[in-house]
Amino acid sequence: MSSGPVYILDTAAFLAGMNLDLSSEIFSTPRVMDEVNKGRPAKRLEILKDAGLQVFQPDNEIVKFVQEKAASSGDRLSDTDMEVLALALEKDGTLVTDDYSLQNVASILGIEFIPVEKPGIKEERTWIFICQGCKRKFQKEMDECPVCGSALRRRVTSRSASSSAGRT
Ligand SMILES: [Zn+2]
Repeated sequence: MSSGPVYILDTAAFLAGMNLDLSSEIFSTPRVMDEVNKGRPAKRLEILKDAGLQVFQPDNEIVKFVQEKAASSGDRLSDTDMEVLALALEKDGTLVTDDYSLQNVASILGIEFIPVEKPGIKEERTWIFICQGCKRKFQKEMDECPVCGSALRRRVTSRSASSSAGRT
């Protein structure tokens, strides 16, 4: 029985020491826990465990599925990253990560993701897509720039900033 949102955290998300909404369910993998313990004293983890952090080893078949998808996208992911993605799929949760490759593979897999800051708070974010060739900006995600054909890079822009987007 789950009520609140479900979040899956990667190592950086833990190390960032963000504020967690305690009505949410928080999951992560044993590998992430190992990495967090290496990086910092385990005190914060203890607090999170008291708050209901659940550590799960994702299903092996799902991990394999994620590995195949990641291999075809060309993103370089660690075993830990693969497991985090697999767990997000398994638990149907929102991935909390700032890692661009993780976010990219997450979007391929249809996993929702949010950046590390304050996942408990609903903050509306919009993406902007900037051409790496001609530097034009687009509101919509596309495979390539319709003007010059270069790859687009995704950036987060705040909602307030997008209100001035009508300007040309
Ligand atoms: Zn362009």
